[in-house]
Amino acid sequence: DEPTIYAITPTFARPVQKAELTRLSQTFLHVPNFHWILVEDAARKTKLVTHFLENSGLIYTHLAAATPPNYKLGRNDPNWKKPRGVEQRNAALRWLREYLKPTDKGIVFFADDDNTYSVQLFSEMVKIQKVGVWPVGLVGGLMVEKPICDNVTNKVIGFNAAWKPDRPFPLDMAGFAINLRLLLENPDAVFSYDVQGGYQESEILKQIVSRDELEPLADCCTKVYVWHTRTEPPQLNVEQLLIKKGKRSNLGIEV
Ligand code: UDP
Ligand code: MN
Repeated sequence: DEPTIYAITPTFARPVQKAELTRLSQTFLHVPNFHWILVEDAARKTKLVTHFLENSGLIYTHLAAATPPNYKLGRNDPNWKKPRGVEQRNAALRWLREYLKPTDKGIVFFADDDNTYSVQLFSEMVKIQKVGVWPVGLVGGLMVEKPICDNVTNKVIGFNAAWKPDRPFPLDMAGFAINLRLLLENPDAVFSYDVQGGYQESEILKQIVSRDELEPLADCCTKVYVWHTRTEPPQLNVEQLLIKKGKRSNLGIEV
């Protein structure tokens, strides 16, 4: 039996949200045995995301979990100032632990809504016994941040990370996936606000796995199947004027 891939995606309202989610969902439609856990950073589920999911053709769970105001990034804050996605990923982990049974076969992956995913990444994930790792493109100041894999033993023997290389697990959120069994066996493993920037990945992983247990995928970490892309906010200067006049372009139409 192939495991179900549970992709956990935090998402928040902004002009590009539906575009990002569309791009993501149309990749995910190519993945067999896929279950999307989309968690809105909002007190309540929005209509836009509800309609979007209803029409997505995917199997999904729709949750809402607002980031507490004191942890919310301000409009002009640099993005490293506060952790993003903590509340939402933890809400999804709670859902998994509440609704899935130890006999359910699953792989859990944290899929941010702005990254770019190849369908090949998902065929790699189904092999995971504990925690699988692979290269991530365009992150940490590098073209590629990757575990270093020994091709004789097929073991992770280090990491090429340049950004905070002393992290216990110097990996991006998109650089690993976890066998559901490990998350059910370690019910207290969660993300935390109480860690330095860039340590979220290490925070969850150190609670469930050791470095020597990591399973290198993507041809001994020689292939890039995911990119840490970021979307430029659009220029909406004309829209601002229209809003003031009560004549917004998107009245009655979801964009
Ligand atoms: N995110 C969120 N609320 C926010 C900011 C971000 O839910 O206030 C989500 C975002 O949609 C993404 C994830 O958290 O899925 C990581 O955020 P981002 O992509 O901005 O992080 P970075 O690219 O800097 O790693
Ligand atoms: Mn991002």
